[in-house]
Amino acid sequence: MPHMAKARIVIIGGGFGGLFTALELAGSADVTLIVDSDHFVFTPMLYEYFSGEVEAWHIGPRYDELLENNVRLVMTPAVNVDFGAQTVLLENKEALPYDVLVLAVGGVTNYAGVPGAEEFSLPFRKIEHADALRRLMVNALDRIPPETPPQDVRRELTVALVGAGASGCELSTKMSDLLKDAFKRRALHGQPRVMLLEMGNRVVPGMGDEIRELVEEALRDSDVEVHTLTRVVNVTRDSVTFEHAGNQEQVKTACVVWLGGVRMNPLVERLEVEKNKRGLIAIKPTLQLTQHDNVFALGDIAYYPDATPTLHGTAQLAFQEASLAADNVKAFVEGKKLRTKHFEELGEAISLGTERAAVLTGGKAFGGALARQARFALYTSRLPTWHHRLRVGASWFFGGTAPRPLLPLGLER
Ligand SMILES: Cc1cc2nc3c(=O)[nH]c(=O)nc-3n(C[C@H](O)[C@H](O)[C@H](O)COP(=O)(O)OP(=O)(O)OC[C@H]3O[C@@H](n4cnc5c(N)ncnc54)[C@H](O)[C@@H]3O)c2cc1C
Repeated sequence: MPHMAKARIVIIGGGFGGLFTALELAGSADVTLIVDSDHFVFTPMLYEYFSGEVEAWHIGPRYDELLENNVRLVMTPAVNVDFGAQTVLLENKEALPYDVLVLAVGGVTNYAGVPGAEEFSLPFRKIEHADALRRLMVNALDRIPPETPPQDVRRELTVALVGAGASGCELSTKMSDLLKDAFKRRALHGQPRVMLLEMGNRVVPGMGDEIRELVEEALRDSDVEVHTLTRVVNVTRDSVTFEHAGNQEQVKTACVVWLGGVRMNPLVERLEVEKNKRGLIAIKPTLQLTQHDNVFALGDIAYYPDATPTLHGTAQLAFQEASLAADNVKAFVEGKKLRTKHFEELGEAISLGTERAAVLTGGKAFGGALARQARFALYTSRLPTWHHRLRVGASWFFGGTAPRPLLPLGLER
């Protein structure tokens, strides 16, 4: 292994795992970060971006600004890895050599093979998805003349969200609050219909009862129609069909948002490495692959054996693992002993509508406007780099975090 300054460290994926590993290694090694877009996404606040409470630059800072010139950026997606030749193959057919490789490509939306889901529903993982959803809402509102009777308005403005995990609850309450506000501003009759469709028997299944009560209360207050034990069986351009207790129903929709889970990244599917039954890469407690000591994997694509089970598939875990990954990459290159670590939950913070949130910290849950402020403060501290945190913190403090109404198309920005 060449000396630390000379070892070529290649990281694939600029999300919570990859970006934070790169930031910790920046300046002390020859690091290349392979990304598939020009900016990071702080996904826990994508809902606030959708509702206009925060701006794109707050939660989607550009990699070149975050990394300055300490990390080489390659903005071409990786398509495969040749572990024998120690190269990463890029979409443009280039092969990038590495001495140490870090895999952090995250997951992709899981449409679970439901007919029409991938073609007609919107995913919600990126800034452009939030933009597309906002545009759809504005277009649907703009099509309704003010004198339309309430039952017709409700039919034209029915939206369905699939999956009542944290994402479904956070987005449905935001959408409902924004739509109800738009109804008032546009003097529309009646109410929008926001449906949350969930296969399981309860909302936020991975969370404790205390926080679930706060979530259920917020869903009720925001008039979100929750359907549990309900399986979506088909999606078309303007409808969703679901099944409950053996009965199928088709509902006309302005849009369907798919939040029904995460599946393996196609790049990981292609890699011939040891994986578990769910397709997650098998790693040692040092984050090294079981068959390749110079390859590390973290975040949503890897099964870390020593973490609280509810942490799997979260930014919290990827963020904590990044620090271990950076330390162990350094130790590996320098021929030192690698560390292992047990990862625990850091708490929960869930946004509920445009006025409140729920936070679980130190085993105690609290909700309301204060929890919303606490969530903003907590997430300011989790954003990448001191410089970015300070800029965003100042912007929220002085500029405020009020939602941006769904104005008619010409007035939207
Ligand atoms: C809307 C939303 C809200 C969420 N809220 C929370 C929350 O509140 N709390 C929480 O703990 N977790 C939350 N999560 C989950 C969290 O975002 C993930 O668990 C976390 O991002 C995983 O980190 P990662 O580094 O494994 O993957 P990611 O952060 O997804 O990063 C992977 C990166 O790799 C890029 N990439 C993919 N394929 C390639 C390729 N072939 N070549 C190059 N680059 C590639 C992707 O575009 C992405 O930038 C949320 C997720 C979503 C979608």
